[in-house]
Amino acid sequence: RAKNTGKNNFMVYDPGMDEAGIERLTLENELRKAVERGGLALHYQPQVDTHSGSVVGAEALVRWDHPELGPIAPSRFVPLAEEMGLISQLGEWVVREACRQVGEFASRGVKLPRVSVNVSALQFTPDFNRMIRDVLEETRLPSGVLQLEVTEGVLMSDISASVNALSELRDMGVGLAIDDFGTGYSSLNYLTQFPLDELKIDRNFVVDAVVSDRGASLVKGIIALTRSLGLKPVAEGVETLDQFRFLTQNGAHIIQGFMFSKAVPAAELEPLLSPWHFAEFLQNLDLEPVD
Ligand code: C2E
Ligand code: MG
Ligand code: MG
Ligand code: MG
Repeated sequence: RAKNTGKNNFMVYDPGMDEAGIERLTLENELRKAVERGGLALHYQPQVDTHSGSVVGAEALVRWDHPELGPIAPSRFVPLAEEMGLISQLGEWVVREACRQVGEFASRGVKLPRVSVNVSALQFTPDFNRMIRDVLEETRLPSGVLQLEVTEGVLMSDISASVNALSELRDMGVGLAIDDFGTGYSSLNYLTQFPLDELKIDRNFVVDAVVSDRGASLVKGIIALTRSLGLKPVAEGVETLDQFRFLTQNGAHIIQGFMFSKAVPAAELEPLLSPWHFAEFLQNLDLEPVD
């Protein structure tokens, strides 16, 4: 087995290690280097208000394109960073970089109203809120520009601590969204306890909504629940016109998905922020009423 020789040392090779072990060790060492020496990037996926066609925000998604290993998916390296105790450092970089980018846009008159950042359960330490406050001060952004996406797991691990931490963030003016709603294990009870702004309807539900009556009922129910709690529904993973039609006709008009754009580098996001870009796209859709 590999031994972790301490915070700033890389793991060391052990002659008894098998191939999978070596590969993992390499990946861990490379990930640590990437986090510490600027090897990560952020891509941004627009969230479109389908009434106006304007981009109301973008989700920042971390990317790792290793010079030799090629692109590695976040579903692979984010859990690795969590296991390695590297997630807070990674997460801090993500928040800082996302805020820096919004500030950079603003300095050139490019308006991105909001950026959403994903937060792992393990990042919710007592230092987390301080880090957020520091980054907002450093970047001099209005706190409402930043939104945090948390999953049910984050909230359920310690409910009263989470309520307190989130309430503090809320008081600072930071937006809060619940991500991947319905995919974790949770009780609906928590929804009323946490100071949330937005609920993200997971891609799996979006897919099912146009496949079966049950799927459709479920999404209608989620939208109704979201609204009755005073939260904004945001649908993610929307790929097809069918899905788009279903969602907008049933009251979910903020849409994020490949139908509009995948996550792109900041330079490619910029033209999408023009008020005409998606408005024109929406006008050109054949949106004949289906009923
Ligand atoms: P998520 O937060 O639910 O992000 C949405 C994922 O769905 C992204 O995958 C996005 O590229 C993908 N997606 C968006 N629209 C569509 C679509 O229309 N069709 C399909 N098939 N997929 C779509 P990605 O970028 O691979 O990220 C996967 C997960 O990794 C994220 O899920 C999030 O849980 C995690 N992640 C990404 N960036 C970060 C980060 O900076 N910090 C943390 N802690 N987790 C992150
Ligand atoms: Mg997310
Ligand atoms: Mg999600
Ligand atoms: Mg997801």
